[in-house]
Amino acid sequence: MNGASEPPVAIVGGGLAGIAAAMALTEMGRSVTLYEARPRLGGATHSFSRDGLMVDNGQHVFLRCCTAYLGLLARLGAAGRVSVQDRFDVQVLSPEGRDGRLRRCSLPGPFHLLPALARYSLLAPADRLRAVRGSLALRRLDPADPALDRIDLDGWLATHGQRGAARRLLWELFAVAALNIDMEQAAVGAAALVFQTALLGRADAADIGLPAVPLGELHDAAARAAIEARGGDVRLSAKVKTIEPGPAIVVDGTRIEASAVVVAAPHERAAALVPLEAAPDRNRWNGLGASPIVNVHVVYDRPVTDLPFAAAVNSPVQWIFDKTRVSGLGDGQYLAVSVSAAQRWIDLPTAQIRTAFVTALERLLPAARGAKITDFFVTRERRATFRQGPGSGALRPPATTRWPGLYLAGAWTDTGWPDTMEGAVRSGLNAACLVGRHLRKEIG
Ligand SMILES: Cc1cc2nc3c(=O)[nH]c(=O)nc-3n(C[C@H](O)[C@H](O)[C@H](O)COP(=O)(O)OP(=O)(O)OC[C@H]3O[C@@H](n4cnc5c(N)ncnc54)[C@H](O)[C@@H]3O)c2cc1C
Repeated sequence: MNGASEPPVAIVGGGLAGIAAAMALTEMGRSVTLYEARPRLGGATHSFSRDGLMVDNGQHVFLRCCTAYLGLLARLGAAGRVSVQDRFDVQVLSPEGRDGRLRRCSLPGPFHLLPALARYSLLAPADRLRAVRGSLALRRLDPADPALDRIDLDGWLATHGQRGAARRLLWELFAVAALNIDMEQAAVGAAALVFQTALLGRADAADIGLPAVPLGELHDAAARAAIEARGGDVRLSAKVKTIEPGPAIVVDGTRIEASAVVVAAPHERAAALVPLEAAPDRNRWNGLGASPIVNVHVVYDRPVTDLPFAAAVNSPVQWIFDKTRVSGLGDGQYLAVSVSAAQRWIDLPTAQIRTAFVTALERLLPAARGAKITDFFVTRERRATFRQGPGSGALRPPATTRWPGLYLAGAWTDTGWPDTMEGAVRSGLNAACLVGRHLRKEIG
């Protein structure tokens, strides 16, 4: 438990990694202060209000296999504010009107998707069979093998019998959304973890989960209340300027001693904050770079689809989500189109994006052709995730530094997971365990 004169553990950054670390440490009975530069918690997951609508900065999806994230929601009292499919089921739309569906059956994993693949009408029968063979080869890989961190996914799939159509109409659907990078640029190691865990393992692993409330309500408000209820202190609009030996942090010109410090800031911020003596490789972290996500928000005057969400192929639309209920829209339907690996779109003016996506949606959803658009806007997240390309695995640091009592967290650290909410929460829990161990040694 907490030593009588022990100063609080300082957590720098209130995204999901920092929230998870703060929750875990308060649950261990440690005194904690969470410093967040912005006036809210939640980091890369947040919401804002626009003309009476609650808008998420970008659609966030998780899977049933995201057990650390789901565990955090339960501890925040927010488990009831998400919905998870009973059974993995994805409708795949195409502008040609030849739609496909991937739905798991009641067979145990890894056989649960075989019938869906066998019936996947967007692929020729021979490609369906090849996809099964490709899946088996992918299943045999060790995602942690450093050699796989150097190979691109598209090339690997091609050399394992996946022809262009199968790569585009099947593999890309999941790989680009999960890794936020084009398949030609994605590292096989990261992709192997995603496919093995989500689609080729337990039957229920890939059941899709969505927030049923705006992200701000799900993460920010719930986390603040839960951390404070456990005796933790949350300081918003509190940007940590430096980290000093001790360890100590400097905020608003004041040096604050800490019993330990967890830096849960994004990699570029962490590289600027963590002293070189503590992490001699910190300049390499910037090599992780950034990959953008764009969300295209379209409000129609009437419902244009019954689907809660859908994927699309042969279209600039990748995934569509019905945000009507979550946003609080009264009449009509609000769709958010989530576009990962969005380099092509990120710098285009809204008018150009509107032309491309309104037309694309009309091709995918016939009812959209007769509907009037009552609002249209775009959210752009330039640095949504790091670039999960070949070589990125080797740049991700462990949670420990050379300074006792100074730890790293964040979805970009070496979690074994891609840059996701699950990776962020895992990193926070891991850092909290290391802090707990460190403090027990200090006192003992
Ligand atoms: C548009 C978009 C869509 C996404 N979609 C998905 C998805 O569908 N599924 C999924 O799992 N993941 C998704 N992600 C990724 C996911 O949001 C991130 O992996 C995760 O939220 C990262 O959490 P984090 O705590 O590691 O970092 P962050 O959320 O970046 O939090 C870091 C925090 O540190 C704070 N900070 C920085 N410097 C300082 C300082 N000096 N002092 C104090 N505070 C500081 C920042 O303000 C920030 O709040 C998406 C991301 C975006 C942007």
